[in-house]
Amino acid sequence: MRIERNLDLTEFNSYRIHSVAETAYFPETTEEIKKLADSINPIIIGGGCNVIFAQDCYAQPIMFVRDNYSGISSNGECLVVKAGTDLKVLSEYAKDHSLSGVEYYYDIPGCVGGATIMNAGCNGRSFSELLEEVTFYDIEKETISTMTKEEMRFEYRGNVLKDMKVVVLEVVLRLQKSSQTDIALLMENNKENRWAKQPRDYPSAGSVFKRPVGHFVGPMITEVGLKGYRIGDAMISDKHAGFIVNLGNASAGDIISLIRMAQEKVKAQFGVELELEQRIIG
Ligand SMILES: Cc1cc2nc3c(=O)[nH]c(=O)nc-3n(C[C@H](O)[C@H](O)[C@H](O)COP(=O)(O)OP(=O)(O)OC[C@H]3O[C@@H](n4cnc5c(N)ncnc54)[C@H](O)[C@@H]3O)c2cc1C
Repeated sequence: MRIERNLDLTEFNSYRIHSVAETAYFPETTEEIKKLADSINPIIIGGGCNVIFAQDCYAQPIMFVRDNYSGISSNGECLVVKAGTDLKVLSEYAKDHSLSGVEYYYDIPGCVGGATIMNAGCNGRSFSELLEEVTFYDIEKETISTMTKEEMRFEYRGNVLKDMKVVVLEVVLRLQKSSQTDIALLMENNKENRWAKQPRDYPSAGSVFKRPVGHFVGPMITEVGLKGYRIGDAMISDKHAGFIVNLGNASAGDIISLIRMAQEKVKAQFGVELELEQRIIG
């Protein structure tokens, strides 16, 4: 297992916030994950595409579940996928096996464990629609368990595991046979549509807030006058006000100040509470 001391986390989070992990672990086996989870109470990070590293330096160890713990095997229309597998790698694999379903997640950065915990989604679809089962290590009970999709009680960007102390290890996805050409077309169209709307020239962590029922976040933030508003190097995107981008050296503090400002102004003008989708790692 790779262990890093004083690891610069800039390349390990999509906001490209500078922070340091005193110790970072990259386990390769389930046994190593269990041992770390039991002994050092680590912070768990996948692709780092939905997190805000709020501390300058983390004394609490960080355990990465990404390409160090990845792999896919197929069983007919089902894929068994380890949690650290990148969504792009998964999408390419599914396409190569003429399996449809994952192409909607091709352009969502991050890993399968993160997509499961966050119930990632776009265009009204959610990752949970593909899931048959989720296997995880329950740190409190010290057991490996498997839950069906129904037991996971998925909802918009949530599920029962989200606030439990668990490490997602593996998922089973049920996909559908399709032609590689159709799948490739969907992947590319999906990516093209997203890139047309989203700010992809600067680092971000996707949508900052969950979509409140009956409202759209971007237009409300635009309406309160914050589109393009900047604190330090953090800016509410002038392309899509639901995103915050890092123009260069944004700190977590800059980003969090913008978040609070947007929440206050939207609450004052529309009476709507904007709930944070991104996770602040304190
Ligand atoms: C440009 C851009 C566009 C995006 N578009 C979308 C979008 O359309 N839809 C969407 O839903 N999201 C979007 N996102 C956000 C992000 O890509 C997703 O939330 C993604 O699923 C996060 O995966 P991750 O592996 O990076 O998770 P991380 O950011 O590493 O972690 C997220 C949370 O999951 C936990 N976690 C991660 N792995 C595990 C594990 N194995 N076991 C237990 N807990 C774990 C972490 O502790 C953390 O709380 C976007 C991000 C960017 C940068």
